[in-house]
Amino acid sequence: EKMQPPSAREEKILVLVRLRPLSEKEITADEATDWECINDTTILYRNTLREGSTFPSAYTFDRVFRGDCSTRQVYEDGAKEIALSVVSGINSSIFAYGQTSSGKTYTMTGITECTVADIFDYIHRHEERAFVLKFSAMEIYNEAIRDLLSTDNTPLRLLDDPEKGVVVEKVTEEILKDWNHLKELLSICEAQRRIGETLLNEKSSRSHQIIRLMIESSAREFLGKENSTTLSASVNFVDLAGSERASQALSTGARLKEGCHINRSLLTLSTVIRKLSKGRNGHINYRDSKLTRMLQPCLGGNARTAIICTLSPARSHVEQTRNTLLFACCAK
Ligand code: ADP
Ligand code: MG
Repeated sequence: EKMQPPSAREEKILVLVRLRPLSEKEITADEATDWECINDTTILYRNTLREGSTFPSAYTFDRVFRGDCSTRQVYEDGAKEIALSVVSGINSSIFAYGQTSSGKTYTMTGITECTVADIFDYIHRHEERAFVLKFSAMEIYNEAIRDLLSTDNTPLRLLDDPEKGVVVEKVTEEILKDWNHLKELLSICEAQRRIGETLLNEKSSRSHQIIRLMIESSAREFLGKENSTTLSASVNFVDLAGSERASQALSTGARLKEGCHINRSLLTLSTVIRKLSKGRNGHINYRDSKLTRMLQPCLGGNARTAIICTLSPARSHVEQTRNTLLFACCAK
């Protein structure tokens, strides 16, 4: 492989769909499923219960993954190429979109781990370059950004940097040493997310989590010299709030505020995604939500994007599953 500067190209958004298996609990409760992946690109709704229903029964995407596919497979056949473009200096974002309990966190955690393992491997095979790999983790809740690697609860600000574009001010950046270090940081993030959870029930279904890996590299032979150039890019793993929030309007009081913000974030994201999927020209309202503004350098321009839509197979979740597929159709 050769190091290449980012090239100007028009990229489509990669849309992947992952169906999880029925859980033990669902099986015990005699849940059935009407969904079936009939090949690598098409998922079918066996419309047995819905005689005369008007919604389509076959949905086609770049790739669909059946319930018995491992996260490793989802990574290898789907997200890998986009995630690893970071080593060539290309920014990227990988999203998990779906209702609560559909497998977003399960999928994103696995994909983050696979990516880090491959990046370390790449670094070891390219000793001609000096690499620095940085890890940061944030949560967006009620349009406030919090640092998941810090106990300081003060919201982080977004700043416009003339060179880098939008940056998150004062966010903790840990230089990632090895695999164990990654595991350690991931468990700190999980604990931080859970602290919020006890204060407010169901928080994780209402907040977005962003894990960002940043890579800087330069050729060793030019290190410290005038003609040395540093290649830098980041890949973002975005575990979105439960998509049921985007379609639910039953909240009151504080809940209403949360609901509105989540609506706004997810809604802005879907608008941005829809526009990007039609080509990267024209005005895009990144500034309408914290999430899109923060991710702007990793969404527009030369950046690459994948969306993994996670689905519950349970018959009782059919409406949400269908909503997720409709979102996925808009993104492709
Ligand atoms: P979400 O983040 O969308 O709310 P989770 O990732 O927490 O959902 O998944 C809900 C539950 O289902 C968890 O217990 C998780 O381990 C399990 N699960 C999710 N996806 C899969 C899968 N593809 N295979 C096996 N178990 C899964
Ligand atoms: Mg989750």
